[in-house]
Amino acid sequence: PGAGNIKVVVRVRPFNSREKDRNARCIVSMAGSQTVLTQLAPETNGKNKAGHKAAAVGSKTFAFDKSYWSFDRKDSNFADQEDLFGDLGRPLLDNAFQGYNNCIFAYGQTGSGKSYSMMGYGEEEGVIPKICRDMFERIDGMAVKDKNMTSTVEVSYLEIYNERVRDLLNPSTKGNLKVREHPSTGPYVEDLAKLVVRNFVEIEHLMDEGNKARTVAATNMNETSSRSHAVFTLTLTQKRHDIETNMDTEKVAKISLVDLAGSERATSTGATGARLKEGAEINRSLSTLGRVIAALADLSTASKAKSKGMQVPYRDSVLTWLLKDSLGGNSLTAMIAAISPADINFEETLSTLRYADSAKRIKNHAVVNEDPNA
Ligand code: ADP
Ligand code: MG
Repeated sequence: PGAGNIKVVVRVRPFNSREKDRNARCIVSMAGSQTVLTQLAPETNGKNKAGHKAAAVGSKTFAFDKSYWSFDRKDSNFADQEDLFGDLGRPLLDNAFQGYNNCIFAYGQTGSGKSYSMMGYGEEEGVIPKICRDMFERIDGMAVKDKNMTSTVEVSYLEIYNERVRDLLNPSTKGNLKVREHPSTGPYVEDLAKLVVRNFVEIEHLMDEGNKARTVAATNMNETSSRSHAVFTLTLTQKRHDIETNMDTEKVAKISLVDLAGSERATSTGATGARLKEGAEINRSLSTLGRVIAALADLSTASKAKSKGMQVPYRDSVLTWLLKDSLGGNSLTAMIAAISPADINFEETLSTLRYADSAKRIKNHAVVNEDPNA
């Protein structure tokens, strides 16, 4: 892949019980790459009785690389976990086995389906466990075919809260881990556990431990896990021994899978004091990530001369700094914008779609259709 390989997709989940209780209406529709968000008249917002149709006052149309309709399982267009994995996970694994770093981000308000898409719940495995399974299947397949090839997988799992780093696989580590920069290999987290895993069962166990640690840490510190970014990293090392030359060659690739903090603005949740500061820090990481991706997208379309003066603001947040070597270059980056289908979340959904829109590689800006009959 060439520079600036950024894929932006959107996924809408089913109604949750709160939305059902409030007789919410579905204001999202999708067709191919298009996602249309309908705005209902304010006085009818959230108050619709069943069968009582609120007036639509306008709609906004966005185009992404793909739109995933996960609203209604009975729909023939329904997109399941496997669809998402096939489109995003598989090409990323192909790229990783070539020796390139990659990442996937899930962005959206709390409760929009980020963790469902990334980690999944129970039988409904998300893209992370599916990537792990597929990675070991590929490794086992290669080991049979090529006796001179050895592959190693290492895993780390960290959380960034208020711009501070915590190890989810070694929760007893006291205090915050320091982010340092190695002159040749780039930014890294000092003392972060990086554990070798030999099969899916081992990695699944660590995933569970890390997920639990995330909740426990949040409870102990009186935080909510929706306010932290979780970064699950796989490092794949492929060593090949050439019998004729008696030389070893090595390919290393890193896959970073990021469940971002809830994107809801601090003000909309009535936050004050420490909570407000937290909100500001979260927004700093999220806005920096948005700017980094947009800058990379611009770089990929800019002329050589023009791109020389362009800066990518990696250093402006811990998240982007740590992912510096996984964003841009030969990396594949996918952003999943997770949204609620309900009218009562119109504002947050619109802001998520706008964020995703600005991260897109080709900037065809949102078309605003003021169609009263939409
Ligand atoms: P977030 O991580 O963005 O806060 P979650 O992923 O935890 O949100 O999703 C909130 C709830 O909605 C969960 O109960 C989850 O199972 C459900 N959910 C989210 N996305 C989907 C989906 N695509 N299909 C079915 N249920 C979903
Ligand atoms: Mg979550």
